[in-house]
Amino acid sequence: MAWKSDFPFFAAHPELTYLDSAATAQKPQAVIDRLTAYYVNDNANVHRGLYQLAYATTEKFETVRQQVADFVGVAAHNVVFTRGTTESLNLVATSFGPLVVGDGEIVTTVAEHHSNFIPWQQLAQRTGATFKVIRARENGDVALADVLATITPKTKLVALAHVTNVTGALRDIRTIADAVHAVGGYLVVDGAQAVPHLPVKIADLKADFYAFSGHKVYGPTGIGVLVGRTQLLEQMLPLQFGGEMIDQVSIDESTWAPVPLKFEAGTPNIAGVIGLGAALTYVTSIDWDTRQQQEQQMLLRLRRGLAAIIGVTLYGDDDSVGAVSFNLAGVHPHDLATFLDEQNIAVRAGHHCAQPLMLQLKIPATVRASVGLYTDEADIDRLVAGVEAARRFFN
Ligand code: PLP
Repeated sequence: MAWKSDFPFFAAHPELTYLDSAATAQKPQAVIDRLTAYYVNDNANVHRGLYQLAYATTEKFETVRQQVADFVGVAAHNVVFTRGTTESLNLVATSFGPLVVGDGEIVTTVAEHHSNFIPWQQLAQRTGATFKVIRARENGDVALADVLATITPKTKLVALAHVTNVTGALRDIRTIADAVHAVGGYLVVDGAQAVPHLPVKIADLKADFYAFSGHKVYGPTGIGVLVGRTQLLEQMLPLQFGGEMIDQVSIDESTWAPVPLKFEAGTPNIAGVIGLGAALTYVTSIDWDTRQQQEQQMLLRLRRGLAAIIGVTLYGDDDSVGAVSFNLAGVHPHDLATFLDEQNIAVRAGHHCAQPLMLQLKIPATVRASVGLYTDEADIDRLVAGVEAARRFFN
């Protein structure tokens, strides 16, 4: 498979079947080379030095902001660099949430990652707003009709994932955005599992805020993005104060740099930003249709293979994106993952940072296999054979 050889990780681990890209994706050589080149050639702080190297590095840093903006279809000043999806969502909940929730309703779903659940639960507890959590249907995700039925004139904020991390369910963000806006509310979208697998154009989706992580889209860890509408970012107070985010500071008062810099206090993760730029260059060099087809084929092959094994319960649907969650009757998911690990197959087992969903489904955990653009048929077939071997071993 052509793309696998772009990732040196697989040459370093020829024995390993890596099916945990939803947790973090492997990095192409182009990203690793760019990070090395940054430290060898370009290392200088950004936005402050008055010498050529600092100017040049600042320009490279800001060029990536524009690249991210183009990648997701917004303007550069809408792109705030953060540590990751978690920090992006917490920034919105803490800085924007109190401006709008009043005694209204905050809506989320039982199938969210904790990083898109707890910040809203805590916001509701701090402000006295009502916290409404939409229940999942049997397949492990909420139905669009249930989301739309939960939105009322009292709804101030709706927060949900574009693609969920347990079952890979894809949500109809545009329809939800229209419904939220019709009652004067705001929509916050967790795009951590969508951006690695789908072409995302945030302006078309009409989300008010959209968050994602660099490390899941083949970039470095420690870098993430919050995209927000200009007017909303302007209303928000920074959460952190210090260098880089100010306009004027005196003993009596301080004023802030324009968005997005007012949210980026201190020396940013410059290498992370540069590496993210290299990751997006790599990702956009591959045609989306070909990639999506490849990933969907791998997921379908996996679903078919697992469905043929006696005792396997599959969550999600045939059109799930990026991941397949499943369980094997009579075998604890952790035991199954350990059994697979002994055969050099890396999958994730646990609650996937979605305990409310596990509680509703009355299961302790699931096993989740997730794909990247490098996942091939041999990876899928090894996992299916591993699960069949586990069934025979444990029964
Ligand atoms: N949201 C979803 C749907 C995720 O899958 C994850 C990570 O697994 C996160 C948020 C949190 O991302 P990060 O840990 O990069 O902040």
